[in-house]
Amino acid sequence: MGSRKPLIAGNWKMFKTSAEAAETAKQIVDLVSDIKGTDILIAPPFTSISLVHEIIMKSSLLLAAQNVYWEKEGAFTGEISPAMLNSAGCTHVIIGHSERRQYFGETDETVNKKINAAISNNLIPIFCVGESDKERETDKTFSVLDKQIENGLKGLGLDDIKDIVLAYEPVWAIGTGKTATGEQAQEVHAYLRRFLGKKYGSSFSDSLRILYGGSVKPNNISMLMEMSDIDGALIGGASLDPEIFSKISHFK
Ligand code: PEP
Repeated sequence: MGSRKPLIAGNWKMFKTSAEAAETAKQIVDLVSDIKGTDILIAPPFTSISLVHEIIMKSSLLLAAQNVYWEKEGAFTGEISPAMLNSAGCTHVIIGHSERRQYFGETDETVNKKINAAISNNLIPIFCVGESDKERETDKTFSVLDKQIENGLKGLGLDDIKDIVLAYEPVWAIGTGKTATGEQAQEVHAYLRRFLGKKYGSSFSDSLRILYGGSVKPNNISMLMEMSDIDGALIGGASLDPEIFSKISHFK
């Protein structure tokens, strides 16, 4: 962790009914109310966003959606626009999560359109990138990440992306219980910061928050946060239980 303000983000994926989401949000508000100096964010499913917003609005918790569509409105059955997310109380949106890339046909091109649409609507993208185990084993980690970033941010200037959050989530570590070691994650985070520094300048890359995601738990968060280029975590499974999420958020 460098001088950047840490961000701990919980991605609830397709878990929790509205009643369960409301209860979880209430508990998280209480459990993390003492935390200063770290941003805490939750990303409930679409159906609970408004309800969760009502619950957290007097707290300092941040609210994200897990996906967005790039069109303003129209005949796009099942999709959700940036303005809808604004009106539901979101400030952030997760874009390009590997589960969307793997199961729902998300490509670098659609990621790019979504990032553009989010930024145009004052939503901060949490832009996810990461290599598969096969790509890591064949030494393609850095080239895969280069391509995801180049294509995902295509056409965007420094002014557009100044508030963006990057999440490095090696696909082999998501939901598998296999976490990258601190050194493995640090190597990639430092690489990504250098890569973006060359492209957009060091004042951008020095302030860019890069989260690590992939089986983060209370017992590995501290060793990850000790790394100078790891600025927080994007947490799936372990964010569903308020006590566990709170323990992670209270990392030392
Ligand atoms: C994620 O969904 O972004 C994630 C990292 O999941 P998990 O923490 O369950 O590996």
